[in-house]
Amino acid sequence: NLHPVKRALLSVSDKTGLVDFGRALAARGVELLSTGGTAKALREAGLEVKDVSEVTGFPEMMDGRVKTLHPVVHGGLLALRDNENHVGAMQEHGIGEIDLVVVNLYPFEETVAKGAEYDEVIENIDIGGPAMIRSAAKNHGFVSVIVDVEDYTPYLEELEANDGQTTYALRQRFAQTAYARTAAYDTAVSTWMAEAVGGTPRRRTFGGTLTQTLRYGENPHQQAAFYTDGSSRAGVATAQQHQGKELSYNNINDTDAAFELVSEFAPENGPAVAIIKHANPCGVATGATMAEAYNRAFDCDRTSAFGGIIALNQTLDAATAEAITGIFTEVVIAPDADADAIAIFEKKKNLRLLTTGGLADPTTARLAPRQVSGGWLVQDRDIGRISMDDLKVVTKRQPTDQELSDMLFAWTVAKHVKSNAIIYVKDGATVGVGAGQMSRVDSTRIAARKAVDMAEAMGLPAPLTKGSVVASDAFFPFADGLITAAEAGATALIQPGGSMRDDEVIAAADEAGLAMVFTGMRHFRH
Ligand code: 5GP
Repeated sequence: NLHPVKRALLSVSDKTGLVDFGRALAARGVELLSTGGTAKALREAGLEVKDVSEVTGFPEMMDGRVKTLHPVVHGGLLALRDNENHVGAMQEHGIGEIDLVVVNLYPFEETVAKGAEYDEVIENIDIGGPAMIRSAAKNHGFVSVIVDVEDYTPYLEELEANDGQTTYALRQRFAQTAYARTAAYDTAVSTWMAEAVGGTPRRRTFGGTLTQTLRYGENPHQQAAFYTDGSSRAGVATAQQHQGKELSYNNINDTDAAFELVSEFAPENGPAVAIIKHANPCGVATGATMAEAYNRAFDCDRTSAFGGIIALNQTLDAATAEAITGIFTEVVIAPDADADAIAIFEKKKNLRLLTTGGLADPTTARLAPRQVSGGWLVQDRDIGRISMDDLKVVTKRQPTDQELSDMLFAWTVAKHVKSNAIIYVKDGATVGVGAGQMSRVDSTRIAARKAVDMAEAMGLPAPLTKGSVVASDAFFPFADGLITAAEAGATALIQPGGSMRDDEVIAAADEAGLAMVFTGMRHFRH
């Protein structure tokens, strides 16, 4: 199963490490074949290279669309070395064996990411590259294929260890990587085109690149890894980590939830903070300063905030960093961090600080696939938003301006809370969050009950839910939830409406003197 490398074809867009690798191959007596730009780079470094066009007898043509698509290349890659017919065909047609293909593709993903025009993106769909990768990978019994610059060194180490030969194990491993690369490449092309076409494509694939092997998944007995899709969106996948241990599976999941939520709050409207536990917020607040926003978010549920994940919509400053270090926190994510704040965190070895360089745009559409047994459920991410104009007042009492603004805040938070979601808000801060219950009235009760506990712990005369507004992510099917909220001190409600018993619910609101608005939009999250 050991095979020597005598002839290599190199054709790379990303020329990082190319010259060193080519030189190492040449030093082992490997003949180098190459396409235009790659050959030029190797030659400029003083290496001897043969042009593929010389081997094929055809020039590179049609703006590079056709360079390596030729039987002399693909025959040399695909021929079974131990098959008489194949060997005979090679001799008959003057085809030489190619033992190694080194290809990285036209930068399709990068071209899309930089917002290029349609035609430019089309020109960046590599054809010959994937074809060679797939040919070489198919024939991994004899041929090696390298698609990642980071595999140059392991490949050379393999040659060193085996007297200039490769093992089957390495060729097979590289072939698997190669097919994952071409699959991801075509996934990127098809995803980009799906957007241009619109609608629901009949076929759909998802792809990603391994970014991090995680120590374990949600639980220690589950294996896990983080694959990124190459998007440039600000968030946990693209953030810079300043300190602390590696993020865990749960950390990444919660940090994502925290950052997506806080990104709903535009920085120009002032500081906002979200504290997340188990992907649900246990406090979200705005404030005159970032530290105030943090303290108000913390006051919603000081108990649950322990070991939480905190997201900020603006730069982390020293005062906020100081406040955050008051309890144990797993992760802080923010667009940026002051030097003073970084210095404060440096003392907390277990705290991870991530900066993103900006917020995630909460209005851009994105697919949200979820695996079920036997397939994938795919939907658009929930980017539904409402404004004051969408609200319909259904009660006798009109909400006050403060109630309206708190209701919109509560509604925004509700979108990021597992259903059934009930959010109590007062003066731009959550004061009670009821999440993930199977009954809406239970979510309403739990949030109110926690507010009572908090008031006792903080020595307040009354729970903060007194004089609050309440958001419900879906309609109240009965009046009981609304009555519970009113008993907890809520004065106004925001909910989609649309229940068979809306009349009953509205009557109960009027009876309790509440103001209520309907959004006509629901925010289930499961
Ligand atoms: P170079 O910089 O050497 O001129 O071009 C290298 C790039 O060309 C690589 O990304 C490789 O995948 C791509 N390539 C090689 N052969 C072909 C071909 O026949 N058609 C197209 N479209 N691309 C090719």
